[in-house]
Amino acid sequence: MGIFIKVEIDPSLCAPDGGRKLVNVCPVNVFALDQDRVVTDAENEDECTLCGLCLNLYPPGAVVVRRLYRE
Ligand code: SF4
Repeated sequence: MGIFIKVEIDPSLCAPDGGRKLVNVCPVNVFALDQDRVVTDAENEDECTLCGLCLNLYPPGAVVVRRLYRE
């Protein structure tokens, strides 16, 4: 988990590919493949730019980007 950002994936909502598209869409490599599973790379979570690209690939709730800080 990052210090400033936490990204969560619900694979059950990432049909039909389990979220594989996330790996290529994120410009700062927050997502990675572990075996056949899409996971977040904790070391890169804080690089998230809040671009929102990952939020538009699957239905709402499939990916959640949480800011762990107050603005
Ligand atoms: S909001 Fe953008 S930078 Fe952040 S995890 Fe999603 S695709 Fe990556």
